[in-house]
Amino acid sequence: MNEGTMARILLKNVDVITLDRANEVLRGADVAIEGKTIAHLGQVPETWVADEGLDLADHLVMPGFWNAHTHASMTLTRSIGDDLPLERWFNDRIWVAESGLTEEDVYWGAMLAAAEMIRGGTVGFADHYFHQHRVAEVAEQAGLKALLATTLFGAGDELTLEDGIEEALHYHGAADGRIRTALGPHSPYICPSEFLQDVAIAAQREGLMIHIHLAESEAQVAVSREKYGKSPVEHLRDLGVFESPVLAAHCIAVSESDLDIFAEKGVIPVQCPQCHMKLGMGVTPVPAMLARGIPVAVGTDGPGSNNNLAMLEEAQNAALIQKLHLRDATVLAGDLPLRLATTHGARALGFADSGILRVGAAADLIVLDCRKPHLRPRHSLVGNVLYAAHSGDVSHVMVDGRW
Ligand SMILES: [Zn+2]
Repeated sequence: MNEGTMARILLKNVDVITLDRANEVLRGADVAIEGKTIAHLGQVPETWVADEGLDLADHLVMPGFWNAHTHASMTLTRSIGDDLPLERWFNDRIWVAESGLTEEDVYWGAMLAAAEMIRGGTVGFADHYFHQHRVAEVAEQAGLKALLATTLFGAGDELTLEDGIEEALHYHGAADGRIRTALGPHSPYICPSEFLQDVAIAAQREGLMIHIHLAESEAQVAVSREKYGKSPVEHLRDLGVFESPVLAAHCIAVSESDLDIFAEKGVIPVQCPQCHMKLGMGVTPVPAMLARGIPVAVGTDGPGSNNNLAMLEEAQNAALIQKLHLRDATVLAGDLPLRLATTHGARALGFADSGILRVGAAADLIVLDCRKPHLRPRHSLVGNVLYAAHSGDVSHVMVDGRW
């Protein structure tokens, strides 16, 4: 189908997890999609005629997943660094593998990631890596939405801030608005202070978001305190980095006062639970963040440390890791873990009309085939999706009204 044609698609007899304000779950409903948006939900007027109808009895529709922190092309480093602590995983395996990385590698690594993401029901992703013009090509061709940031170290012979800005401005709004961009300084523990200050100024000047790694370990906090006399969060605040919208991956070693800074500045932390468990990193204090109104999102991180891009499993892990860590089965109850992985992610990446099913929202949705033993009986559809389903149950994926 050509871009721009106003296709009218009707999904019939389907169960719907809306993730709207009222936590509405509909049984045997109809969903009408017109062009890029949801036109009707529940009852569709008889006068509304579809070009394409799909009977989805025994299927379930919900908002697609948003992966709020990944390095898609790291599919190429999948399973080469298992069972190593963070520092050794980085230095002994990942940096070595990435030292010979070409643009072509980035393209095919991201294409493999796109295939995996679509199969698992991801509709949008925040990528932090090199050669982002090639990842932009992949997002465009695959039909995905994305927030792309070129990884910048701010020292050595790598890309300059100007390169990062140029690429960000060039691709912002590309692919008919499906691609947004951000500046991607690596982290406060790698980037020099002056560089981070320049990034902060440039982001404000150009109206760009910042996507960064932050507070991954207590060791990083200790080094920051020794070097700057403050936590990594305070350090970034004082450099002006939080004056623009910020997506901050990990945020494990954060204090109560760091969380107050996040709440005040609107910083959005991204928990990557499977990566945190696998690398033995610790636990992002998600309930404490949510209690402050911080709309934390969920990511997989790169497949070099996960080792996949399965966001449904990540939503499950987001709930399970907190329940175990806090020895409290009541935390992250109901559909909240699904919201973190959909609604919160979409908003965090700047796609505010996605991550929810309601009239007027973007038609970014997924269908799960429930004709499976592990999805019966159906006491709670949310419970079945969150704690019984897996990525392989996703049968259809739609972005901006296109399958
Ligand atoms: Zn990362």
